[in-house]
Amino acid sequence: MTRVRFAPSPTGMFHVGSARTVLFNWILAKQSGGTFVLRIEDTDDARNRPEWTQGILDAMEWLGISAADEAFEGPYFQSHNAEAHVEFALRLAADGKAYYCDCTRDAVVARTGNENLPYDQHCRDRDLERGPGRALRFRVPAGQTVVTDLIRGTVEFDNAAIEDFVVLRGNGTPLFLVANVVDDVLHRVDLVVRGEEHFPNTPKQQMLWDALGHTPPTWAHLPVLVNEARKKLSKRRDKVALEQFRDEGFVMDAMRNYLMTLGWMPPDGVEIATFASMIATFSLADVVPSPAFFDIKKLTAFNKEYIRAMTPAEFFAAATPWVTAWQQSHPGHRWNDAIFLAMAPVVQQRCETLADAPGVVDFLMLDAPQYDAGSVAGVLTAEGRAMLADADDAFAEVEWEVESLKACVEAIGEARGVKKNKAQGPVRVAVTGRTAGPPLYEALVVLGRDETLRRLAALAATPDPELPVA
Ligand code: GLU
Ligand code: ZN
Repeated sequence: MTRVRFAPSPTGMFHVGSARTVLFNWILAKQSGGTFVLRIEDTDDARNRPEWTQGILDAMEWLGISAADEAFEGPYFQSHNAEAHVEFALRLAADGKAYYCDCTRDAVVARTGNENLPYDQHCRDRDLERGPGRALRFRVPAGQTVVTDLIRGTVEFDNAAIEDFVVLRGNGTPLFLVANVVDDVLHRVDLVVRGEEHFPNTPKQQMLWDALGHTPPTWAHLPVLVNEARKKLSKRRDKVALEQFRDEGFVMDAMRNYLMTLGWMPPDGVEIATFASMIATFSLADVVPSPAFFDIKKLTAFNKEYIRAMTPAEFFAAATPWVTAWQQSHPGHRWNDAIFLAMAPVVQQRCETLADAPGVVDFLMLDAPQYDAGSVAGVLTAEGRAMLADADDAFAEVEWEVESLKACVEAIGEARGVKKNKAQGPVRVAVTGRTAGPPLYEALVVLGRDETLRRLAALAATPDPELPVA
């Protein structure tokens, strides 16, 4: 039975690359009836913070990976296993598979005459005892290490090119490499799926597995994520924190779906698919080793599609945090849930993210629209003002429903020789504050005759180039 693991270090926000790694591992456990182990690799005291650990747990929960699921095991904490890490390393020493070394870096350089050369194996046969300041080094065997990677194929490493690396430092603490292997051994992991940056460590880790008397796992190193310049995603340069996408209004299902396509293509070539279908069809054999472009435009397109596919009630619920935030930043608002729900299908067509939702209908929920200066300037021409006056007259009488309002505005435009697609402009800006927005006549019906007339008058009364005061 497959035992996979996800082994994040709590050193920062949850990277989208980690999000992909965790999803791939989770899917592999679920589709095989196996186990997914979560291990927090928290042994780097200088860089770890408890809030980052919480961030990992929250991000996983958001992605639908639940600790309550039968496939889920953990979380374990690497720091709780410190004694075992040392014990396993000492076992290597006892078996002659590792040896103590008292060389300083300077001494090694003095002997080799070159700062860039690896350790010269000076202490290999000196039989030094364990002691303060003495590091424990792994005795790299002669020959080759053959790493079988499900994504990168079979890669042979010449052991002669791998130095006798340190497993315990002079102060007795184990290296990360060792802690990582010992924990995987103890957690009986048989398939390691992780980011490509760990590939160079793999031959050393595989030797440790062998030396500890255990069959190494199967490996799968996922392709690196790159930006549009084909550079590896970086925390400083690129937006990479899953939390940030979540907080900006990316829908979980869209995010999860998009992450799955980074390096993997569903066999039928249809990228937008349910998670259940991906669990059924995912295979590491179909993951390609070449870098995967993390394309925010494409992610946004996925997001739009998922937002459109929601029912109005789902959309209403999903948008609630952004609506609440909007309400808090607009004192005196008259937000109306019933109007928002009624407008939901129209709003859904116009959102790239959930954060866009309040802005599509805000003009209905405020005493005055939030005027866009450019839009206002564009319609406050002599012709625009005349059309506002025409509308003011006509709207006083017209039947207040979509078709009549539409006919009325179109007639005004025609009488003034204005192109059909421009006829709405002045009324739209008066009522919504902007040239672009939801269908106008539906909005007028919701807003009502009195309020509409008030807004037409307010814009008409605005001297150039100021903004109207409604
Ligand atoms: N803790 C390591 C990291 O966050 C992962 C090591 C591994 O997956 O083997 O990069
Ligand atoms: Zn030495």
